[in-house]
Amino acid sequence: MSDRWCELKREMKEAASGLGIDAIGVASADPFLTLKQRLIRHRELGRESGFEEPDLDRRTEPSLLFDNPQSIIAIAVAYASKLKDPPKSEPGARRGIMSRSAWGEDYHTALRERLARLEQWLKERVPEARCESMVDTGALSDRAVAERAGIGWSAKNCAVISPELGSWIYLGEMITNLPLPPDEPVTEGCGSCTKCIDACPTGALVGPGELDAQSCVSFLTQTKGMLSDEYMRKIGNRLYGCDTCQIVCPVNRGKNWTHQPELQPDNELAKPLLLPLLSMSNREFKERYGRTSSAWRGKKPIQRNAVIALGNFKEAAAVPDLIRVLMEDPRPVLRGTAAWSLGRIGGADAEAALRQAAVHEEDAEALEAIREAVRQLERNG
Ligand code: SF4
Ligand code: SF4
Repeated sequence: MSDRWCELKREMKEAASGLGIDAIGVASADPFLTLKQRLIRHRELGRESGFEEPDLDRRTEPSLLFDNPQSIIAIAVAYASKLKDPPKSEPGARRGIMSRSAWGEDYHTALRERLARLEQWLKERVPEARCESMVDTGALSDRAVAERAGIGWSAKNCAVISPELGSWIYLGEMITNLPLPPDEPVTEGCGSCTKCIDACPTGALVGPGELDAQSCVSFLTQTKGMLSDEYMRKIGNRLYGCDTCQIVCPVNRGKNWTHQPELQPDNELAKPLLLPLLSMSNREFKERYGRTSSAWRGKKPIQRNAVIALGNFKEAAAVPDLIRVLMEDPRPVLRGTAAWSLGRIGGADAEAALRQAAVHEEDAEALEAIREAVRQLERNG
C-alpha cells in the first residue's frame, strides 16, 4: 500500500472529530461472504423484519453498488443514553419512552451531513475521489462494515460495540475508489457475558448475535396491526423501539454522549405524556416528531403503543379517553387495542363501554378484541 494512502488515512482519522465523527475506520470492499450465509439462514428461518433490502447480493457485494470499489469508510457518531432531569411518570401523568436512538434529530440527517463533510474533505485532497454514502437505508449492512473497519465488535445483542463508545452509536459508511489501507477488527468481545440474552423480554435474541426480528419488541413497536396479548404486555410503555439489551450491557455502563448538540434529547419528546398522544392530529405529530427517526412509520404505531402503555399502567384516569378511542376512532386497530387496554384497567365504566361497543363494532378483528376484553373482565369477576 503506497505511503500516499496511508498518509491520507492518518490525516482523515485526525480530521474526523472536527467533522463531527466520533469513530472512523476503513474496511476492504471485498464481498461479505460470511454475512451472506448468515442472511440466507436468517431468511430461511423467517427471522427477517421485512424492513431490510430484499436483495441479499446487494447487501453483501459492494461491487454491485459501486463501480470498482477500493475501500469502505465506516463512521460512528455517539448519542445520549440518559435524560437530564427526566420527567416522572406517575398516576394521572403516565409517560411512554422512545428508543434512545430516536431521541435527537433523525440520525439519517445527522450522519448524511457528516458523510457529506467527509466526502468534501476527501475531494479537496484527492479531486478524482468517487464516494457513495449510505446510512441505514443503504443496501450494505452498517454493522458488518463497522465490524470489519474496526469500529467495534459484533455483539451478542446484535449491536456493534465500540470499546470506547459502547453501543450508543449511529453507523454509516461510504464506498470509495480510494485504496485506503484497511483497519484491523477489534479484538475485544462479549466473552462469557449473556446479560442481554437473559434480559430480552420476548426471547428475541435466540442465540448470541442472532435476532428473531419478528418477536423483537423494537420491531413490534413499529408494526401497524393488532398485537397479541403476550406482546402487548411485553411492550410495557415503549412507544418506539426497545433499548433493554443495550441498557443491561456492562460495556455501556456510565456511557452517555452529550457533545453532539443536535442529537441531544428533548425530555417531552423522549418521554412524552401518554394521554395527549391519543388525540394528536397529523399536523401536531409532524411538528413534534417529524425531525426524529421515530416518525418514519407515521403516528399510528405510536398511538397504538400509547394505548397499550396506558393499559399496562392500569391507568384508571385514562378510561374516558380510551372509551373515546374505542367508540370513535376510525382505525379498527386502535379500537381493538383500546378494548384490550380497557380490559386490563377494568372498572364499571370500562366494562359498560365494552359491552356497548360489542353491539356496534363492525370490524371482525376489533370485535374479537372487544369480546375478549369482556371475557377477561368476567373472568376477573
Ligand atoms: S431490542 Fe428489546 S426485544 Fe429486541 S432483542 Fe433487544 S431486548 Fe430483545
Ligand atoms: S450484555 Fe454482555 S453479551 Fe450482551 S452485548 Fe453486552 S457484553 Fe455482550
